[in-house]
Order: sequence, then C-alpha cells, then structure tokens
Amino acid sequence: MTKYDYIILGAGASGLMLAYRMAQDSFFDDKSILIIDRVRDKGNDRTWCYWENGEGEWDHILTKTWPKIFFGSEKYSDTIEIAPYSYKMISSENFYDALWKVISKKSNITFIESAVKSFNEHKDSVEVITDKEHLTCGKLFNSIAKPDLYIKQKKYPVLQQHFLGWFVKTKEEVFDDSIATFMDFTIAQKGNTRFMYVLPMDKKTALFEYTLFSQDLLERSEYEDAIKQYLSERNISDYEIIEKEMGSIPMTSFKFFKLDSKHILNIGTAGGWTKASTGYTFRNTTKKTEKLLSFLKQEQDLSKFNRMTKFWYYDLLFLDVLYKYNKEGANLFASMFRKGNTNTIFKFLDEESSVIEDLKIITSVPSKRFIQSLLKRVF
Ligand SMILES: Cc1cc2nc3c(=O)[nH]c(=O)nc-3n(C[C@H](O)[C@H](O)[C@H](O)COP(=O)(O)OP(=O)(O)OC[C@H]3O[C@@H](n4cnc5c(N)ncnc54)[C@H](O)[C@@H]3O)c2cc1C
Repeated sequence: MTKYDYIILGAGASGLMLAYRMAQDSFFDDKSILIIDRVRDKGNDRTWCYWENGEGEWDHILTKTWPKIFFGSEKYSDTIEIAPYSYKMISSENFYDALWKVISKKSNITFIESAVKSFNEHKDSVEVITDKEHLTCGKLFNSIAKPDLYIKQKKYPVLQQHFLGWFVKTKEEVFDDSIATFMDFTIAQKGNTRFMYVLPMDKKTALFEYTLFSQDLLERSEYEDAIKQYLSERNISDYEIIEKEMGSIPMTSFKFFKLDSKHILNIGTAGGWTKASTGYTFRNTTKKTEKLLSFLKQEQDLSKFNRMTKFWYYDLLFLDVLYKYNKEGANLFASMFRKGNTNTIFKFLDEESSVIEDLKIITSVPSKRFIQSLLKRVF
C-alpha cells in the first residue's frame, strides 16, 4: 500500500486552498501529497462572497466588487459605504481553475478521483478507504463533512443558512451595481429569520437569493415564489433566469475541533471553519489554511490546531437566541446595524475585534434574550 505524507480529502474550497498553499511553499516539496475527491471538475457549482479590508489574495480572480452594501428592515434601512472594506465575489469555477493550475505543476502532489468511504487512525498513520483503493498517510486533512455528527447531538442547536438564488438578466438597465444588498428583511418573516440577498453583477444582471437562518428547509417552490414576488414588487418583470443556485450551510457551535486527533485534522465546514452565526466560511478558510501551513512546520500533533476563542461563546449565545426566537432575527440584525459601525461589525464577525469593540457590538443588540441564554448555559 502506498504511504503518503499527507492526504487531503475533498478538493473544494478548503482542501484545494490547502493543497495550493503547499504547492507554493518549498517546505512541502519533499512531501508526498494526495488529494482525493469524487469529482475533480465541479464547474461553477457556487459563488463565494466575503468582505475584506483593502486588497486581498484572490483579487486577481474576482468576478465583482461592491463598495457599498444595503441593509433593509422595517426598523432601519440604509445604504452604507464600507471603505476601507469592500464586498467581493468569486465564482468557484475561476477559483478551482486558478488553484488547479498551480497544483498540477507539482510532481509531489497527485489526485485521485474516488469516493471516500471511511478513514481510521492507527498509532502512526491513517488509513483511507475509498470505493477503489486502500491508502495510508502520516497526516490526514478531511473536508468531507458528516452532518450526522452535529445534527444528532442536542447540546448545541443547529440552524441552517438555506437559500435558493436566481441569476436574473433583464432587457433594460435596472440594477445599481455599486450596491450589494447584504440583508433585506423587508419581506414576510413568517416566524423565521428570512431575508433577500441581492448581488447585481452589472446593470442588467443580478443574483437574487431568498435566504433563511432556520431549522428546516422549505419546498423549492417557496423560495422561488418569494423571489418572483420580490422582483414583481420592484417592477422587474422583463427578465430571464440564466442560472440557479441552491445551498444549505450549517450554523452551529458544535465543537468540531473535538473530532481532531494527532494525525487527523478536519478542515473547512467539516472542521468548524464556517462562522456559526453567519454561515460565512470562505475568508475564514483563507486565513486558517495560511495559519495551518506555519503550524505544520513546527507541530506534529494536529489536535492542537483548532482552538476555542471568545468568539465561540458569542456565537453560542447568538445561536441559542436565534434558535429559540427565530422570528426575532430581523430585529437583532437591525439593532446591530442601526447602532453599530458596519466596519466594526465586519471586524467582529471576522473574529478580529478587540474587547472594547466586542462590547460595542454586544451592547447594540437587545440584551434580554442574551442574558436569558447566558443564564441558561451557566446554570
Ligand atoms: C451554494 C453555496 C454558496 C455558498 N456561498 C458562500 C459565500 O458566499 N461565502 C462564504 O463564506 N461561504 C459560502 N458558502 C459556504 C462555504 O464557503 C462553502 O460551502 C465551501 O465550499 C466550504 O468549503 P469546504 O472545503 O468545507 O467544502 P466543499 O467546498 O464542499 O468541499 C468538499 C469536497 O468534498 C468532496 N466530497 C464530498 N464527499 C466526498 C466523498 N465521500 N468522497 C470524495 N469526495 C467527497 C466534494 O466533492 C467537495 O469537492 C456557500 C456554500 C454553498 C453550498
């Protein structure tokens, strides 16, 4: 059986980013690295958006950047200039192509198209079983999520950020493509946290995504009817749907890092790199994979990589509240955006804020529910 130094399971955002970083760092030139995914060419299977302060690593492959965002709700609506931040969009196809181009040049990195069935840790190695072969490695990086692990437990609530989006093309120029609608809560909440997310790529093309932070997914027609209605309320009737996107991202404070061990590190959504309170994962993955490379040069025990921070506790309380009082999400976000500075909110959600900045955000939301949740967790 061939033994690799590293095996990376999954060539999505996190697996590919990790392999790309290894390909660019000569420290890994003498390491044998294998990537396994059941599909190599996934096409344009998603679009990733994230906010970023100034220039960033992926700027050369971005599809679009917005200098302003719109936040809408019954209590507070505003268009906000977010400089020095901007909101950035990258198509997965551009991302996969650019990264594979670099990875494919390295003779020490190979790829196998197989479905992974399981993996087992031994004293000094990890065995990976696919539908075609048995493989072993010194260290395993796993990005294949096992939702059962967090869905079946009861200690930490699990919400989903679920959405369906239409890429719409109009005949006339109807969109202001300098503004991304970050969250528009002025739609019927129906007992949940529901908002429209709108990303105009140019004056005639935009993505309309009907999004919920809630427990249960909807029938497909419910998302689509809501988009139709939103468009019609804005007198947008002459359009064609050029593409659709659907997804569901777990939002939970489940302790993913407890699944890590000396030779196995869970990465990406499988490793808890999805921000529990927002579902955003892409930028965190950029930061975490960078940190992971430095870590691997000094440390052998992978269970020491993912750490709990104060932000884990903030997310825990936020999700406790959102889970129990799901219809109050619009008010919570509206208070935060009305009273807080948007750049501080971004910093806070990026887990880069100071304690003083944390306090500014925490005190901007109605405290009653959070105190109740805190007391419940403590006692
Ligand atoms: C439609 C959509 C839009 C999103 N938009 C955003 C966004 O705008 N901003 C943001 O920050 N986050 C977003 N996310 C969340 C997150 O960034 C993505 O889900 C991201 O792709 C997660 O990266 P990952 O590496 O954890 O998983 P993935 O990118 O899903 O990679 C996992 C890989 O594992 C492979 N795989 C799965 N099972 C097996 C198996 N048994 N054997 C072999 N291979 C297997 C899959 O083919 C896949 O390539 C979005 C998610 C979705 C679904």
